[in-house]
Amino acid sequence: MVVNGKKLIEILDRIADVIEENKLMLTELDAAIGDGDHGINMSRGFHAVREKLKDDDGSDIGIILKKAGMALVSNVGGAAGPLYGTAFLKAGAVVEGKQTVDVADLENMLKSALEGIKMRGHAEPKDKTMVDAAEEALNALNSSNAAGESPQQAIKAAVDAAYLGLENTKDMIARKGRASYLAERSIGHKDAGAASFALILKTIFDELYG
Ligand code: ADP
Ligand code: MG
Ligand code: MG
Repeated sequence: MVVNGKKLIEILDRIADVIEENKLMLTELDAAIGDGDHGINMSRGFHAVREKLKDDDGSDIGIILKKAGMALVSNVGGAAGPLYGTAFLKAGAVVEGKQTVDVADLENMLKSALEGIKMRGHAEPKDKTMVDAAEEALNALNSSNAAGESPQQAIKAAVDAAYLGLENTKDMIARKGRASYLAERSIGHKDAGAASFALILKTIFDELYG
């Protein structure tokens, strides 16, 4: 797996389309225990990313991710914009100046992105947020890479783990974000941000190997 800047921009473009296709699903998850705008927020954010990158020459992966992060931070009003924005900014910071990234870089990027989300949102695993999908994904990617599995296997393992993390949010009590206002009543519903996270990771896999 080697991704250059041009391919990364294509992947981000595809994420905007996939978010659009899943806007209703994301919004319905958020409507059950939040305010029902997660699909709209994510769609607005990734269309801003697309707009911001349309003239980028693809020469620096770090700059592409930084631009994406800035677009998300400044165009999304909801909690998820600054959180995903920080994730992309942090991911970009560990690949500054690189023309291509491989699966080891991806692991570093995901690690840094997750740290950024946790720092910005003060969330920990089991708080019923996107962190629950991201943490599982990172652990799976790390184990698979450490075991010497192929990049395809490693990224697939990360996607499956993210979806497992999403499923696990169903039984959790929300401790961060709007869903935390419902406390115990948030049990029985999956977290919208964990769903968008899993979807984004799946889109990356599909674009690379689908
Ligand atoms: P808002 O809640 O402002 O309407 P969104 O609906 O776009 O924003 O995003 C909600 C998602 O953001 C939640 O489902 C959760 O995954 C994530 N989230 C909210 N607050 C936090 C936080 N403090 N830390 C991590 N993730 C959070
Ligand atoms: Mg919302
Ligand atoms: Mg909102």
